[in-house]
Amino acid sequence: MINLVTGGAGFVGSHLVDRLMQAGQEVICLDNYFTGRKSNISQWIGHPRFELIRHDVTDPIRLECDRIWHLACPASPVHYQFNPIKTAKTSFLGTYNMLGLARRVGARLLLASTSEVYGDPEVHPQPESYRGCVNTIGIRSCYDEGKRIAETLCFDYQRMHDVEIRVMRIFNTYGPRMLPDDGRVVSNFIVQALKGEPLTLYGDGSQTRSFCFVDDLVEGMIRLMDGSHTGPMNIGNPGEFTIRQLAELVRARINPDLPLIEKPLPADDPLQRQPVIDLAQRELGWSPTVSLENGLIPTIEWFRKVLDQQASQTQGVRA
Ligand code: NAD
Ligand code: UDP
Repeated sequence: MINLVTGGAGFVGSHLVDRLMQAGQEVICLDNYFTGRKSNISQWIGHPRFELIRHDVTDPIRLECDRIWHLACPASPVHYQFNPIKTAKTSFLGTYNMLGLARRVGARLLLASTSEVYGDPEVHPQPESYRGCVNTIGIRSCYDEGKRIAETLCFDYQRMHDVEIRVMRIFNTYGPRMLPDDGRVVSNFIVQALKGEPLTLYGDGSQTRSFCFVDDLVEGMIRLMDGSHTGPMNIGNPGEFTIRQLAELVRARINPDLPLIEKPLPADDPLQRQPVIDLAQRELGWSPTVSLENGLIPTIEWFRKVLDQQASQTQGVRA
C-alpha cells in the first residue's frame, strides 16, 4: 500500500507518517515546509519504504499511490492569516490537484477538514448535520470557506468521477511537535508558562474549545480511511473547556504563580465548540482515550525539550 501524505512534515501529518511507517506501509511525504519541519520526519529519512518530496500542492503532481491523506494546509489562525490568499489557494487548488491525482490513479482520498466549517456555531454541540454559521468576508474566512469548498470538491469528484473520498472534520488537536511559535492556544499557554511569562487570554477566556490529543486523532483518521463511511465525520474529544480553564490547568502544571492577562478577542473568534461524535463511535468504534489533563503531560515535556534546545543553541552562539 503506497500512502501519499500531503502536509506530512507538519504536526498531525508527521504523527500519521509514524503510524503508517510502523504498520509496515510505504509512505511518500509531501510538504512545502511552510509550517512543517524536516525534523518531524527525520527519523524516517533513508528508510527504504519512505520518500520525501518538497512540493507545493497548489501545483499538480504526478505519482503513483493507493491512498492520499490530504492534510497540506496551515491550521493555526496566525499562519493561515499570514497570507490568506495563499491559504484559499492551498485549500481549493491543493484539494483540486489531489482529487485529480486520486481520479487518475484510482486512489482513495481522505480530506483533513475542520470544525471551522461550523463557523461560530448556533447549534451546540455540533453534529455533522449542522450546516454552520460562517462569515464569508472575515479574517478566518480564507480557512473556513477554503475547507468548505474543499469538502464540496470531494463530494463532486465522488458524484462525477466515482473517486473514493473520506471527509474528516477535525476539532482542536494538540500534542508534541506543535511549533513553539505556532500561535494556537495550547502551544501559546505552555510556552508562555515555561518561559515564566503571563498567559494571554484573548477576550475574557469564557469561549470554549474541545481538545483532542494527537494520538487519538490519528487513530480516528486511520479508522475512517480504512472503513466504508465517506463522512463528513467529526473526530474530536467532546470534553469542553473554557479557555480560562485551559490556562488554569497549564499554569497549575508549570507555575501556579503566573498571572493571566486579557488581550483583545480576534474578530469572528467562535464562542463555543464541541463535537458530537456519535457517528464516529457508531461507524468506526472510535472514541478518544486521552483526557486533556493526561495529554498535557507529554505535550509540556515536548515544549520543555524544545525550549531547552533553543536555549543551549543560543548559548552556543554566544560562547
Ligand atoms: P500544520 O500547520 O502543522 O501542518 C500543515 C502542513 O501542511 C505543514 O507541514 C505545512 O508545511 C504543509 N503545507 C501547508 N501549505 C502547503 C502547501 N501549499 N503545499 C504543501 N504543503 C503545505 O497543521 P496541523 O495541525 O498538522 O494540521 C494538519 C491538517 O489538519 C490541516 O489540513 C488542518 O487544516 C487540519 N486540521 C487541524 C486541526 C488541529 O487542531 N491540529 C484542526 C482542524 C483541522
Ligand atoms: N487564544 C487565547 N490565547 C492565545 C491563543 C488563543 O485566548 O494565546 C484563544 C483564541 O482566541 C480562541 C481559542 O483560544 O478563542 C483557540 O484558539 P486557537 O488559535 O488555538 O484555535 P481556533 O480559534 O482556531 O479554534
